[in-house]
Amino acid sequence: MPERPALGLARAALRPVLDFALPPRCPGCGAITAEPHRFCLDCWSDLEFLGDPCCFRCGLPFGFGPGGEEQCGACLADPPAFDRMRAAVAYGDIPRKVALKLKYGGRPGVAETIARFVERHMPPAPEAILAPVPLHRWRIWKRGYNQAALIASALARRSGIEARLDLVDRIKATPPLRGKNPAQRRDTVRGAFRIAPKHADAVRGRTIILVDDVYTSGATVGACARVLKRAGAARIEVLCWARVLKEE
Ligand SMILES: [Zn+2]
Ligand SMILES: [Zn+2]
Repeated sequence: MPERPALGLARAALRPVLDFALPPRCPGCGAITAEPHRFCLDCWSDLEFLGDPCCFRCGLPFGFGPGGEEQCGACLADPPAFDRMRAAVAYGDIPRKVALKLKYGGRPGVAETIARFVERHMPPAPEAILAPVPLHRWRIWKRGYNQAALIASALARRSGIEARLDLVDRIKATPPLRGKNPAQRRDTVRGAFRIAPKHADAVRGRTIILVDDVYTSGATVGACARVLKRAGAARIEVLCWARVLKEE
């Protein structure tokens, strides 16, 4: 039937216009809001924003204390491969819903919302390169996009910092890390990543800002950070939407 693809194309062409015409909705619950990229009051009051005082290295919130350049016990005992990690919010019901909307809805509007909350943690490094934590190509093929790449693109648009969406390559599909201990997680992701050869020269001496949606144990970003450091990156920053504070 020749009409079908034509209709599909027409719909695709109309979508941005329709999105624009629809009232803005809360990225958490879908309630209509006054302005785009704003949470409704209920969802907003449920969000736990992260920031100082926290571990200088991994951003773990400190209940009290000066913060500053202090590091948490875990970072002192076993320093992560990255130099600094920050997330916008603590993982919970609403951040999970937002992350799922991005992951399975692929809506650039959600990535833009996330970028607005993450960007206040951007390091002052205009010469840096933004790079998403990659998905394995089978998963991209199934889903059509990588949610971390959508966030990295939105951050690049907003900050003017260069993004290289295929900088890190996932060469091994890895099983979920849930339920594994830190050593098992590290083993699982070992050898899973490499720097795409065409970007190898660009990495040397640069600050790389790794972007992901949810930070759980740090095993995945840690593995990416290790290959970037090995390739000569000067500094690895990690930016995420939500950080798991307590694993169930
Ligand atoms: Zn809401
Ligand atoms: Zn720490």
